[in-house]
Amino acid sequence: MQLPKILFIGRPNVGKSTLINRLLKKRAAISYETPGLTRDINEYLITHEDKSFLLLDSGGLIRDKSDLYEFQNMVENLVENVLSSVSKIVFLTDAQDGLLPGDKKIAQLLRSVASEKVILVANKADNDNIKHQVHEFYQLSFGKPLPVSATLGTGVQELLDRITEGFLTSDIKKEELEQRFKIAIAGRPNVGKSSLINSLVKSDQVIVSEKSGTTRDAIHLFFKHQNQLYEFIDTAGIRRQTKMKGRVEFFSVVRAKDAIEECDLVLFVIDAERGFSHQDKRIAQDIIDAGKSMIIFVNKIDCLADGEFSQKDWAAMLVSSMPTLEPYPIIFGSCKTKVGIQGIFKTIPPLFEKIHDRISTSQLNQFNQEIIKRYPAPSKFGKRVNIYYITQVETLPPTFVCFVNNIKYLTNDYKRFLEKRIRSYLGGFKGHTLKLLFKNRQREALADLLKRG
Ligand code: GDP
Ligand code: GDP
Repeated sequence: MQLPKILFIGRPNVGKSTLINRLLKKRAAISYETPGLTRDINEYLITHEDKSFLLLDSGGLIRDKSDLYEFQNMVENLVENVLSSVSKIVFLTDAQDGLLPGDKKIAQLLRSVASEKVILVANKADNDNIKHQVHEFYQLSFGKPLPVSATLGTGVQELLDRITEGFLTSDIKKEELEQRFKIAIAGRPNVGKSSLINSLVKSDQVIVSEKSGTTRDAIHLFFKHQNQLYEFIDTAGIRRQTKMKGRVEFFSVVRAKDAIEECDLVLFVIDAERGFSHQDKRIAQDIIDAGKSMIIFVNKIDCLADGEFSQKDWAAMLVSSMPTLEPYPIIFGSCKTKVGIQGIFKTIPPLFEKIHDRISTSQLNQFNQEIIKRYPAPSKFGKRVNIYYITQVETLPPTFVCFVNNIKYLTNDYKRFLEKRIRSYLGGFKGHTLKLLFKNRQREALADLLKRG
């Protein structure tokens, strides 16, 4: 089932942002920006009476009056990329300003789409007087305008009813949306990212398949598996659809990075036959630098001859060429023979089960006493490093702040040692990237800080 897209359009100042903000607040919708460079259209997922749709906000497209002169270009661009893929268009006008040339221009553009797709709205109809003055908008040939006041909220229910009229009820509930796992699929070209997406999706019923309007966009796939909602962000299609021209290649890399930025977890795909390359290493580093959780999927194991391959050896090879990959689960599989796909679904939920529980400061103090005091930081320049105090400030990524006497004396080896010890002593961070931050603090100042609570 496709999640319908609704475009909100209108000249500057008719009240698009005000109306959209009202819809978002009222519905407590989950909003996300379309990843990528073209931030001029934002998407918001809105649920109204068990029906969901994506609201496309063209607000940034025509920002002020001067833009109106360049309007034609922008609008043509919009027509090309978005209009054909939207289910309905909410065309906003300003009932107080009356009909203006900008409205007519937009109307002209919208003629290329079926007029029944257009919902004409006369905003700022704050009172009955104004409501009765909206006849002139009939000229636009989109029928009777729906009077709405974005600031007062009148007419908004009716607008939502009109938008969702005829839509199928989706079985996504608001809580499920809020608790969904957002997963980006990353990896270099040809490792099997799109094959993996297909395998994952086929293994379960897709409830929403959302394909973005422009060819450069990532594809968002929503589906449920064992009552858990997943959103997969697939950037693989970008390259295929655009055939790799220099600039587009650049866009797709940026978008892949944006997808990584936007997700909770990265499914990092490697090709078993071709091994772990330099490019793979760079992508893995990007994922770690972004502080994201990760599962490594070693694909195409069907290509390896029997006896030649042991998962243990492969994993050991991987970790020895990039030791920082050790904390992340590795799943071996094949999209061709459908091996390992269920393993992915089994691995994901436990990763997030307790991740939002913070480690208490007393536990961290105990850790400090038992481990760190026993293995004090090796001295650099003959100076001792003391860790006075550790506290967890974030849960995803798990972030710890360590107060030390002097950061200068800390070596990278000791930081790695500390991370390893936190993982083994406190446990529970499999698959997650830890962040360790260090701050200088005088013992006295710290005591004072603790006293003040
Ligand atoms: P946009 O450029 O289309 O996004 O328009 P904005 O949402 O920024 O609104 C432009 C101006 O119109 C702002 O000053 C809003 O407060 C005002 N406005 C928006 N909706 C209404 C409305 O329903 N009634 C009145 N009186 N003013 C409104
Ligand atoms: P992407 O560029 O990462 O999205 O990779 P694709 O999914 O397009 O796959 C690249 C090529 O690898 C295609 O020819 C696939 O058929 C092939 N492929 C994908 N997964 C497997 C697998 O598990 N085994 C084998 N033998 N080939 C695979």
